[in-house]
Amino acid sequence: MKFEDNIRNYIYGELEPPISGDYIDNYNPSTGEVYSQIPDSDERDVLRAVKAAERAFPAWSNCGVKKRFRIMMRIADIIEQNLDAFAKAESTDTGKPITLSRTIDIPRAQSNLRFFATAILHFASESHYMEREAVNYTLRRPIGVVGCISPWNLPLYLFTWKIAPAIAAGNCVVAKPSEVTPMTAFMLAQACKEAGLPPGVLNIVHGHGHKAGQAIVENPSVKAISFTGGTQTGKKIAEIAAPKFKKLSLELGGKNPNIIFADCDFEKMMTTTIRSSFSNQGQICLCGSRIFIEKHLYEVFKDEFVKRVKKLVVGNPFSEKTDQGAVVSSAHKSKVLDYIDLAKEEGGTILCGGKAVDVPKFEKGYYLEPTVIEGLSPTCRTNQEEIFGPVVTLIPFETEEEVVAYANSTEYGLSATVWTQNIGRAQRMAEKLDSGIVWVNTWLTRDLRTPFGGMKSSGVGREGGWEALRFFTEPKNVCLHL
Ligand code: NDP
Repeated sequence: MKFEDNIRNYIYGELEPPISGDYIDNYNPSTGEVYSQIPDSDERDVLRAVKAAERAFPAWSNCGVKKRFRIMMRIADIIEQNLDAFAKAESTDTGKPITLSRTIDIPRAQSNLRFFATAILHFASESHYMEREAVNYTLRRPIGVVGCISPWNLPLYLFTWKIAPAIAAGNCVVAKPSEVTPMTAFMLAQACKEAGLPPGVLNIVHGHGHKAGQAIVENPSVKAISFTGGTQTGKKIAEIAAPKFKKLSLELGGKNPNIIFADCDFEKMMTTTIRSSFSNQGQICLCGSRIFIEKHLYEVFKDEFVKRVKKLVVGNPFSEKTDQGAVVSSAHKSKVLDYIDLAKEEGGTILCGGKAVDVPKFEKGYYLEPTVIEGLSPTCRTNQEEIFGPVVTLIPFETEEEVVAYANSTEYGLSATVWTQNIGRAQRMAEKLDSGIVWVNTWLTRDLRTPFGGMKSSGVGREGGWEALRFFTEPKNVCLHL
């Protein structure tokens, strides 16, 4: 498969320019240089995409699950056969280490497609028998045209996480990747063409969120929206979609606690905590940015953690030795640096990092030192607001009750990690933490069958497994009188 650099929309099976003829610069974060152009689509392109999806829906929703399965498996195979090209594109677009794109992002995109291609073969619905009177069964049918909007941190990974269950269930999709990281979505369009996905089943419109993204949410023919992104954007989408009674799945921000008890397996905890703090430059919604450490382990933890963080290699994402690449944009780099200034104003002590990094030969790239801060109250802004960068804070605690109160004190409730060998305590913590996901003695271990999502301002609804297939279908109770 030969990929072309000139990004275009994918509408009714064709790669086409935006109606306006306008384009947005696409930056390579590792060099700070513009390296491609993105269609600056507007509501006219979205309308074409919605019409294409409407045209495709009757045939796709009735073609049978086996056909959908076969085509989706073919798309996954094409991505797998082109792993290196996809990984290179993902790292060029995001600044993330190539090792991460090659082993996590792109393989997970394949898994998403395969998982839902096979899941739909086994999807079943309930029946309710009323003795000698009637039998009810739940008929689940695809919704129609649905919208999928995804963020820049895990571009193809999260894009396919939404698109795969939607099309497996028989819907037709209008999707928008983040305008900051559009390249692998464009390559996905080419893979879909090659795999023989019927025209209009998936339509990809590139462009700004407030323009192309909002037009998808506003379009009356789009009956459901699956969105992953920031909490403020989620709020705006809910305001538009709720009065139109659209089905909504919102996966939003996080400020996740990582809770470390003194009885943990220290080495396993330490290795994993380095990853859960700084993977993908801290730009994973599930990263643990507030690290709570039981008081009598605090100094030992701090010394070892800071020692290891200082050894992390920041630099060229394409070097196999790099631990941390560039953050996604110049604006995001400034935002993270502003938060580090705020932490200082709030009385925090920077234990390591805290500055931008000049990488030789990549001077214009957006590099930041992994940063560890202590001495802040759990309720200050630094510990309450999502920074979404390579910045963590250390906070000591004495009792379970105290740390649960700290952990639950933010508006977010996406994930939490607990480190302890005491199974009773692990269970108590899991019950009391306000989080959609609780990991005990691990981080980011994902079984795609499990419900995924957040509480409070971290979101509404759950993705994953049957939850996603239920979201993308409309249940209808059929009552047969006996
Ligand atoms: P944004 O909310 O800025 O953007 C997400 C997507 O929404 C992008 O495609 C964006 O387009 C689009 N968008 C922006 N405004 C609108 C609008 N008015 N109507 C419709 N679409 C719109 O998030 P980021 O891309 O900055 O991603 C980072 C955020 O995502 C963090 O808060 C992070 O926690 C969260 N996230 C949550 C996850 C979860 O599972 N809960 C997983 C991963 C990230 P454009 O980029 O073109 O502006």
